[in-house]
Amino acid sequence: MAHALLKGETGDWEIVIGLEIHAQVLTKSKLFSGASADFGGAPNAHVSPVDAGMPGMLPVINKKCVESAVKTGLGLNAQINKYSVFERKNYFYPDLPQGYQISQYAHPIVGNGEIEIDLADGSSKIVGIERLHLEQDAGKSLHDQHPTKSYLDLNRSGNPLMEIVSKPDMNSAEEAAAYVTKIRAILRYLGTCDGNMDEGSMRCDVNVSVRKPGAALGTRCEIKNVNSIRFVAQAIECEAKRQIEVIEGGDKIVQETRLFDTKAGTTRAMRSKEEAHDYRYFPDPDLLPLKLEQDFIDAIKKTLPELPDAKKYRFMKDYGLSVADASTLISEKSRADYFEAAVKGNDAKLTANWVLTELLGALNRAEKDLGDSPVSATQLGGLVALISDNTISGRIAKEVFAEMFATGKNAAAIVEEKGLRQVSDTGAIEKIVDDVLKNNPDKIAEYKSGKDKLFGFFVGQVLKQSGGKANPGMVNELLKSKLDKA
Ligand code: ADP
Ligand code: MG
Repeated sequence: MAHALLKGETGDWEIVIGLEIHAQVLTKSKLFSGASADFGGAPNAHVSPVDAGMPGMLPVINKKCVESAVKTGLGLNAQINKYSVFERKNYFYPDLPQGYQISQYAHPIVGNGEIEIDLADGSSKIVGIERLHLEQDAGKSLHDQHPTKSYLDLNRSGNPLMEIVSKPDMNSAEEAAAYVTKIRAILRYLGTCDGNMDEGSMRCDVNVSVRKPGAALGTRCEIKNVNSIRFVAQAIECEAKRQIEVIEGGDKIVQETRLFDTKAGTTRAMRSKEEAHDYRYFPDPDLLPLKLEQDFIDAIKKTLPELPDAKKYRFMKDYGLSVADASTLISEKSRADYFEAAVKGNDAKLTANWVLTELLGALNRAEKDLGDSPVSATQLGGLVALISDNTISGRIAKEVFAEMFATGKNAAAIVEEKGLRQVSDTGAIEKIVDDVLKNNPDKIAEYKSGKDKLFGFFVGQVLKQSGGKANPGMVNELLKSKLDKA
């Protein structure tokens, strides 16, 4: 699945994908003004004269944004450019009052880097980063507020964005989804962007082309502003199929910007693609080139936390977890932290299973985030400990967990209250085993004549009669020896 080829009438096709991710820097104020960069707020409540594009207003760079860009660049294992230049990207749009966007073009603040993505089959792949640059966000036109008028909300105008551009290194929807997941994790670990795609603080432009395996790169189409990881994958699947049909139908792909219609599950043309020279980029005369000192970069380097991949390898090494478990745990920092708190003194594999399967499953069903989990990490650790020391069986543990999730009580308290302690007393279990055997002479005969599957029936009967409390290992052993002798 990782490097999936698509079948067309003329044989196999390879998909090529490059992503541009716009990540809003987590700051209080905008890139070049002191107005609030918060999400929401009454329309046009967060607008300074700079953001409104008033003539003669002077932009002043927000130092926090520069620090965040450098920090993110380091997190992407990328080259930090000590010299970068803000340029004007000129175009007209009603939500762009300046008539240009201040961005970086020829000299971005961050150059080449690379990250590792984790795939479902347990393999990893390196994806190249081409650059990261700082730029302003535009405002927003509202067309659904009035039957005949459009409104403008400039709250977003001037918000600080980091545009992270990948190399065209991905070859399937799965790889692209894994890439966005990893970028989001890195941003969240670093605290440079909240990564909330549904609030638009992380948005994705998806570039897709197709080619015959081994051929030169095909012409790409860019699908704009895809706002969830699921949609990124869907948009790629349907756009690649469309392109194959076009080419196999004897036509050429025209480079263009397209939109993904999430309801129809198709992409449609938005505008023909503009080239860089259409924008008449030139250095912004109001902003000097940005020059960084090595000390400034080094100081930021010192503040870097343990990053997702480092954590993944540590989880594999220190806890003996599989790459699949480790990468699922580290994909959210809160999840990794939860696991590390729960695993203290416990079996790692068992703890990982409980976090990934039972806990995340229950949270999902209850539509809750890990942050609102009714079962704390220490409480889950307590439950795992009771399984490990044979106080309760795995089966009873699920019942206890459901109760913990509903009431927030500790596992031990529930086990005592409900008398769920596992019975590991040989005499007590033997009595039930004897009982079950005595009541099923016909089944014993069948078993003896070769129907091995009936062993499961006997185990089930004994567990049932013990109220699920008999130690399953002991039940198995006792049954085996008694059936052998029967
Ligand atoms: P633009 O501003 O024109 O969109 P960028 O350089 O910002 O250009 O981004 C181009 C993106 O398209 C990059 O992510 C790059 O990897 C990707 N890309 C370039 N060529 C192809 C191709 N043939 N197929 C798929 N993706 C491509
Ligand atoms: Mg671009």
